[in-house]
Amino acid sequence: MEILHTSASTVPRWHLMTCAYERMQRRQTIAKADKVPNKFNKVYCVIQYGRNHNKLSHPECVERIQTIERALTDSRLLCDGGQCSSSSRNVEAPGGDISSATAVQLLSPSGRVPSAAELGLVHSTAYISKMFEISNTIQEPTLIDDSTYISPGSIQSVLEGLGAALDLADKIMGSPTCTGNQDVATSVTMGKNLPCSQSSVENTFVPHPRESNSTTTAMLSSYNNWHAGHYPNYEHPAGFAIIRPPGHHVLPNRPMGFGLINTISILARYCQCVHKRQRILIFDFDVHHGNGTMEIFYEDADVMYISTHQEGLWPYTGKVSNVGQGKGLGTTINIPLPGGSGDMAMRAVFDQVLGPAAEAFQPEVILVSAGYDSHKLDPLACMNLKTSSFGWMSHELSLLAHKHCEGRLIFILEGGYHLPSLADSVVASLKGLLHDSKC
Ligand SMILES: [Zn+2]
Repeated sequence: MEILHTSASTVPRWHLMTCAYERMQRRQTIAKADKVPNKFNKVYCVIQYGRNHNKLSHPECVERIQTIERALTDSRLLCDGGQCSSSSRNVEAPGGDISSATAVQLLSPSGRVPSAAELGLVHSTAYISKMFEISNTIQEPTLIDDSTYISPGSIQSVLEGLGAALDLADKIMGSPTCTGNQDVATSVTMGKNLPCSQSSVENTFVPHPRESNSTTTAMLSSYNNWHAGHYPNYEHPAGFAIIRPPGHHVLPNRPMGFGLINTISILARYCQCVHKRQRILIFDFDVHHGNGTMEIFYEDADVMYISTHQEGLWPYTGKVSNVGQGKGLGTTINIPLPGGSGDMAMRAVFDQVLGPAAEAFQPEVILVSAGYDSHKLDPLACMNLKTSSFGWMSHELSLLAHKHCEGRLIFILEGGYHLPSLADSVVASLKGLLHDSKC
């Protein structure tokens, strides 16, 4: 980890240039050797404002989403009318062309309301009951800890956000293994034990009442073989859930860090239980450590959690020595970085930690806790990343997703409280996913 503490000022310029050149050569070699795409043709986005979850003067506010939406519109990355065509408003962007066939497409909200069973993938029954109880009794936005508030409409807002994220997952994962919400609900009504841990993923899958687990497994295997044969270059689109509040601090039975539910953890379980993808890699580049996500998967060998975060910052968790335990020993990787680390350190993380870890873990899905409070202008921290940093990071993640999991890559918005930087950085992330030559 020594190199992670290297500051740019102490590294000779020739060395930086050599590293950049070697990195470029390595990427080109990987792309050619593996015949993997190096960008996405399409990114699906869902936007949920969480309008009913709001508190005056709180940094986690509905304006965060509104500002992002405006920047997205101004970026001209969006398809017109929901359909991409050669007349779409796509334009060339710095760092590479975005062809007329590529764009960001907004998914219309389906109004899906997540089931209690889906909340129960991560959260305890007692916690869910308590949140509903509080939401039903309060009259105005109320702090429930030092920084987290709940307002009369909060539950509706977080459920809308989660519903949008699950819809997005269905769109991105799209395969016959997806049987939708019904599976999870059925699992719970039948008294099955969710969430699905490493050994119980197969056991918790509920086949049709007239079919056995082995029949279902055989069907999935046949389908996947057929699909690989007929669509060898099949590529999943990427996804970005622009929702709030952030959730990576939320524990199974406690709200925390502005959040009421741990959306990315529910999504990971959902990918396992409903979409039958066993190994999930969660990369968290929010400036704060995702203590909730780490705790939920700390003993889980099938979910790898990798976090970069500013050292010594709230919630004061995420030490290098926290590496998981039990069956999950080795699948938690914490990379605390000194304040001011910036691009240099993050490049080292991608090259020396994230890339090799993904190679070893072989994820089937990559989920990203995308927190933009690591931007240099954010008022809550001083990680010193630039807007362009989020572009190259996303591009690197798209390479990993194509290399290891046929492009199954979903971003979930976490933090980011300097509104112009947040909005520009989300747009940079989307461009990074769509570009073929960014970095
Ligand atoms: Zn944060």
